Amino acid sequence: MPPGASIFMIDFSKKYKGDITVLGAGLVGSLMAIYMAKKGFKVNLFEQRGDIRKVKLKEGRSINLAVSQRAWTAMEALGIADTVREHVVPMNGRMIHNPEGKLSFQPYGKEGQSIYSVSRGRLNQLLLKIAEESGVKLNFGHKCTFVDLKHGISYFTVTAEELSEVQADADLVIGADGAFSVVRKAMQRTDRFNFTQYYLEHGYKELTIPPKADGSWALDPNALHIWPRGRFMLIALPNLDQSFTCTLFLPFEGEKSFETLETDEQVMKFFKEQFPDAIPLMPHLLNEFHENPASSLVTISCYPWTRHGKAMLVGDACHAMVPFYGQGMNAGFEDVRIFTELLDQHGPDWKQVLSSYEDLRKPDNDAISELAMANFIEMRDLVANPEFLLRKKIEARLHQLYPNKWVPLYTMVTFSDMRYSEALKRGKQQEKIMHEVMNQEGLEQNWESLDFESIIARLDEK
Ligand SMILES: Cc1cc2nc3c(=O)[nH]c(=O)nc-3n(C[C@H](O)[C@H](O)[C@H](O)COP(=O)(O)OP(=O)(O)OC[C@H]3O[C@@H](n4cnc5c(N)ncnc54)[C@H](O)[C@@H]3O)c2cc1C
Repeated sequence: MPPGASIFMIDFSKKYKGDITVLGAGLVGSLMAIYMAKKGFKVNLFEQRGDIRKVKLKEGRSINLAVSQRAWTAMEALGIADTVREHVVPMNGRMIHNPEGKLSFQPYGKEGQSIYSVSRGRLNQLLLKIAEESGVKLNFGHKCTFVDLKHGISYFTVTAEELSEVQADADLVIGADGAFSVVRKAMQRTDRFNFTQYYLEHGYKELTIPPKADGSWALDPNALHIWPRGRFMLIALPNLDQSFTCTLFLPFEGEKSFETLETDEQVMKFFKEQFPDAIPLMPHLLNEFHENPASSLVTISCYPWTRHGKAMLVGDACHAMVPFYGQGMNAGFEDVRIFTELLDQHGPDWKQVLSSYEDLRKPDNDAISELAMANFIEMRDLVANPEFLLRKKIEARLHQLYPNKWVPLYTMVTFSDMRYSEALKRGKQQEKIMHEVMNQEGLEQNWESLDFESIIARLDEK
């Protein structure tokens, strides 16, 4: 099945009237602006930075993201998925690099189920182009400083030319302004608004594997490469220009940490010990290591997501999460699609649309945030563990025998549009059953003769 083949019904011939301000022209804000313009609204999109379409992107230097089913579905509903597909590289599974440089491949799902690597900058450029073509008014160099939530007024400092202050009035203000959202800050000043932020002890640093001298890929391009090392890991995702963007996830402090990797000798010693097979592929390792920042990873949780039927949050602004399930953008795109479906159900009653949106999306984003945190342990540690691999094999067999009853958690999250909260619930039930299955003696030799039917029957137990 091609990505995004399941198309949700949003009736784009059903149009509305009104003014919408979208704050933040990142991935989620740009997509939201397109959806709202196609629903007939007059949309003003404001972004504090300049126009990313004017920046010449160097593939290997931009974060790349894994696009999976949920983002495809949101783009498919708009009819823009094919345009994006021209800019992605399929990854069919994880390629695990052990400390001796030995490789093993673990498919993500069934034949034909892949996730897709895309440059974040390239995707952002494409979405902005489509937004402009759809009639969205783009305002770059506009830094939002405050939002009057009751009246839908946003205030900006315009940084492009001479510094000036402007304001925009709208029927609805959509805060797609990321993890440090100004719209959320305005909500934080209102009564009974809950908010938490949690910084992981790990940070990340980006590095590059350029193409080989003959211009070809230095590693298998159709895999997400992982060097799992227990408390930390290196990963690499392919770019269209035959390079790979690598990300090193490492604690900020402690024995093996960014803090202890300061000199060339320390960095080289660490890489020789931990990732010896990566060193010959990274000719700019030392330069990049010293030049590129170690960035932090934050989880944001808050509620409510809307105020006064006039303002709402979407994407990282209300649910920034750690990147280990590759779902942050996917979840943000799903927010946009579901918000628009609710608009068709309840529009133009904004209060009803907004309260249904936050009721529906909050538990789902809590679920994927929880799964993202848990997947860090799976990626950096368990993927190299023989018991984990055996468990995956047994689950794959169960899925093959009973495709509608037993669906591996990764498949529910990545290759379906099932609610994240439902995936988490079913995943926990399967986890409990598998825990008992894995306790059986001699499983490594006998797993193929397990009584799979009785394992499936346990799903019906209360
Ligand atoms: C290392 C890493 C890897 C990741 N990998 C994946 C992956 O594989 N798959 C996936 O789905 N997700 C992934 N993510 C998550 C994904 O990048 C985010 O969820 C997504 O980019 C969020 O988009 P957004 O538009 O909500 O926020 P942002 O991308 O943060 O965009 C917010 C925009 O608002 C603008 N802005 C902020 N404040 C203001 C202001 N005051 N006024 C005007 N404009 C403002 C910003 O300049 C920015 O352009 C990853 C994240 C990281 C850090």
